[in-house]
Amino acid sequence: MIFIKERTKPIYLLKLEAALRRVPDTHPNKQKILKEYLKQQSGYRGEKTVDYYLSLLPKEQTILLPNLRLKNNNNFHFQMDTLVLTPRFFLIIESKNSAGELIYDTETNELVRRKGTEIEIFSDPVLQVERQKLQLIELLQSFNIPPAPLLTLAVLTNSSVTLKMKSDQMKVPGNLIRAEALPNKLTEIHYSNKKEYIAYQDLKRLGRILIKRDQPYNPNVLEKFNVKKEELICGIHCPSCFNFNMRKSRQGHWKCETCSLISKEAFRFSINDYLLLVNNVIKNSEFRRFLNIKARRSAVRLLSNYKKTGNKKATTYHLTYYKS
Ligand SMILES: [Zn+2]
Repeated sequence: MIFIKERTKPIYLLKLEAALRRVPDTHPNKQKILKEYLKQQSGYRGEKTVDYYLSLLPKEQTILLPNLRLKNNNNFHFQMDTLVLTPRFFLIIESKNSAGELIYDTETNELVRRKGTEIEIFSDPVLQVERQKLQLIELLQSFNIPPAPLLTLAVLTNSSVTLKMKSDQMKVPGNLIRAEALPNKLTEIHYSNKKEYIAYQDLKRLGRILIKRDQPYNPNVLEKFNVKKEELICGIHCPSCFNFNMRKSRQGHWKCETCSLISKEAFRFSINDYLLLVNNVIKNSEFRRFLNIKARRSAVRLLSNYKKTGNKKATTYHLTYYKS
């Protein structure tokens, strides 16, 4: 199995992490942000679990595409957690990382979780992945690529999940499995689909077309959760323990008073937060406000890392995302 694109943390999840750091606990919508973050984080973990089981398989002519969000033929987006392309078949995998006791009702298409008196209802992952299949078939037809059989799997990725059917008459669908069963299931699929429908070259071409069309969900998180940029916590956070407890040394680095981390690049992680939450350009005064830097001159020095346009007071710096 090869990834022609690595699974990386989705931009939406990065934005939620930045919001968790920067939105004060006293903000009325902080809990909503936290809830959404936990949901997205859990989904991402589930997808990584699927990746792990897929990595155990032999590396044959197989392409893995993580987290594709594509426009369907009706101009609506649909998202697939994992798409596997092989000359013999295509496979969409939807992962659900919920823990606890799930009760599956194939009549109402609901997955219900009871925790004490609390009831939580999830959408049916089998129905979800079948909907993705219909939309992908339509899309592939418009690419003029010979179709291979398109299969679907819904995978329960949390090891502490139990699944029960609502009534004894209901059967667990054959394409709803636990993550540990994934290698066996894939071997079974591999041996029952022997005919090759598409050349590996065409498969790679298809993979590239799909990646080009990928439009990750990327909302303005401050707007979404009704937070004003002035409400965000200012200052430089520690890139390791995330506390706002950094002290600048004379040697030009920051030291975290909480975990003792020493970093020359600490400010860049705070700039990432600004980039994720507010804007991709910044002026000197706003830079000093957001990072709590008093001296204009040291701000100029730090900003010299970024491309600038304009002159004097109107100088605008173009921020880039920093990866350590
Ligand atoms: Zn620290």
